[in-house]
Amino acid sequence: MTGVRTTCAYCGVGCGVIATPQADGGVDIKGDPNHPANYGRLCAKGTNLGETLSTVDRLLHPMINGVQSDWDSATTLMAEKFQTSIREHGPDSVAFYVSGQLLTEDYYVANKLMKGFIGSANIDTNSRLCMASSVVGHKRAFGTDTVPGTYEDLENADLIVLVGSNLAWCHPVLHQRILAAKETRGTQIINIDPRRTATSDLVDMHLGIKSGGDVALFNGLLNAIVDAGAVDQDYVDQHVNGCDAALSAARETSLDQLLNLTGLNSDQLDAFYAAWIENKRVVTIYSQGVNQASDGSDKVNAIINCHLATGRVGRVGMGPFSVTGQPNAMGGREVGGLSNMLAAHLDIENPIHREKVADFWNAPTLPTQAGLKAVDLFDACASGQIKALWIMCTNPAVSMPRANDVAAAIKNVDFVAVSDIIAKTDTTKLADVLLPATGWGEKDGTVTNSERRISRQRGFLPAPMDAKHDWQIICDVATKMGWGHAFAFKTPSDIFAEWAAMTQLSRDAGKDLDISAFSMMNDAEYDALQPVQWPIKSDHSDTRFFANGGFYTSDGRANMLGIRPQSTPQIANTKYPFTLNTGRVRDHWHTMTRSAKSPTLSAHMGEPYCEIHPIDANALHIKPASLVCVESPHGSVILRALITDRVQQGQVFAPLHWTSLWASKARIDTLVPSLCDPYSGQPELKRAAVNIRPF
Ligand code: SF4
Repeated sequence: MTGVRTTCAYCGVGCGVIATPQADGGVDIKGDPNHPANYGRLCAKGTNLGETLSTVDRLLHPMINGVQSDWDSATTLMAEKFQTSIREHGPDSVAFYVSGQLLTEDYYVANKLMKGFIGSANIDTNSRLCMASSVVGHKRAFGTDTVPGTYEDLENADLIVLVGSNLAWCHPVLHQRILAAKETRGTQIINIDPRRTATSDLVDMHLGIKSGGDVALFNGLLNAIVDAGAVDQDYVDQHVNGCDAALSAARETSLDQLLNLTGLNSDQLDAFYAAWIENKRVVTIYSQGVNQASDGSDKVNAIINCHLATGRVGRVGMGPFSVTGQPNAMGGREVGGLSNMLAAHLDIENPIHREKVADFWNAPTLPTQAGLKAVDLFDACASGQIKALWIMCTNPAVSMPRANDVAAAIKNVDFVAVSDIIAKTDTTKLADVLLPATGWGEKDGTVTNSERRISRQRGFLPAPMDAKHDWQIICDVATKMGWGHAFAFKTPSDIFAEWAAMTQLSRDAGKDLDISAFSMMNDAEYDALQPVQWPIKSDHSDTRFFANGGFYTSDGRANMLGIRPQSTPQIANTKYPFTLNTGRVRDHWHTMTRSAKSPTLSAHMGEPYCEIHPIDANALHIKPASLVCVESPHGSVILRALITDRVQQGQVFAPLHWTSLWASKARIDTLVPSLCDPYSGQPELKRAAVNIRPF
């Protein structure tokens, strides 16, 4: 068989892959040399995708209450349970919790079913844990959720600042592209992270900031920009509101406070600020260290403020750049996967937008207000408000903060359906109905990466046993609920064409997301779709946003915001004196349901661990490689001690991946409180107060 061009299943870099099934049943995986995200490169996770394709551990049949069933029985039961709940308790008594790993077509029909036909906005996604604060930051600054730049900007920058991002492990191909650019043009790289990571090893400057110090750091930068006369006054005068208010808020932080909040010294701050101001071509890349915080939205806007003040937005080699964790976090945002948005970047609170969407779908009803965000959604499960829950393609009993409470909350719901490719996870064991879904290599659809590039995922393997595509399962349930006319899709290309046509509404509403050029696409054209970036330009000219203004606000001008550092309540205290930082390892992914199947990937880090500073380990009599108990008010885990000065004294780090399937007590998010950013609802997964002791 010839190779099939598809897209990697893992991170938001969105690398092109050529998958070639072999005569022995294996699949050869190569990077696609023509894909603009990676030009042939792959990281370890992408390279070893072929090792993850066995059907061992797969969920292969519909199951009802632990007994093998059939599709008709399972979807009939689901339709009845959801209809009963809606009839007896109203549409807001049901909820969907979905995933940034779903393809855009799956996401679109799930969103259409919940918001357009059930009439509730209680559909949220695990992207809430990943990107929601960036969405808020973008919308507050630009008027819409737009990433201004492209990956090429990383190669054309003179300075790259990586904030709260271990790019070397979490987005390795982008990291490789930056290092290649450093080699040829001498790009400076500065890394801002409380922990010294693999990324920090290859930079010109690592600033070991205190956890939570980012707003103060970037407010200090804004002050330094003004003091150095580096404001781009023409750009600000023409395109930006709120510069004075932003500066006035930034001025409130004294130098002493700045030093205290960041934990950095004056020389470090001066060096960072000078580099940022002197290099016009600056890209500030940020990731979960910024987003996963109770002030994540403010961190995003503090960063964007500096770029707006200097006009360094959407121009070659310049701009704030949010890199997404999951392969389709962006595609999910585009089709309204979050509970507080409509598809095509339209606003749920806007009656005109609601009317347009209802007309387009010929929908009986549309919710008039935002639905429950992830943390609130599971709290509503615990309180009994949610009576019927459908979880698709994600494992919240491991990945949500207060994961033990979330598992109990799911158990409390009258009826729970879970669609997954894996039979046994911490979440599937809580389901009344299990629905076997197809996985990577078996399904067709599209994903959008961190630079707004839509790429095809293409199937090259048959669906195993009874497994169905997620979009088919959703359409089957919708049909049994009486809405078959609106869910009569035969192929993913039917869905993509409808979705593309819908983006005309975005254009009509003066928004940014318009892929309506694809609305007449047939199956053959869809199959041949090449990676394409929106805005769609037939001449492939510059796809950046905002170099010359044109923001999606009511007056077309961007907003700088007055941002002040907040004090956060859950920092270390006498009972829990350490600050836990969580994150990924290089070769595992999320809750390891895919990556642990690969012996090659599992060889990198074989078990869960906790990084502890040598002085702390010594004081607590913790020996290298011994077991430690890490406790918070919400739970406790047992981890292997890794004693290293990569973490600061008083801080510990533990990876997030391990589940009860692999280690009986290693679910890190059981330790984390559900403190959320007030604007985005994104929980602070990056910081928890814990105690550690020898086990
Ligand atoms: Fe896959 Fe991300 Fe690695 Fe690219 S960088 S191969 S998208 S995991």
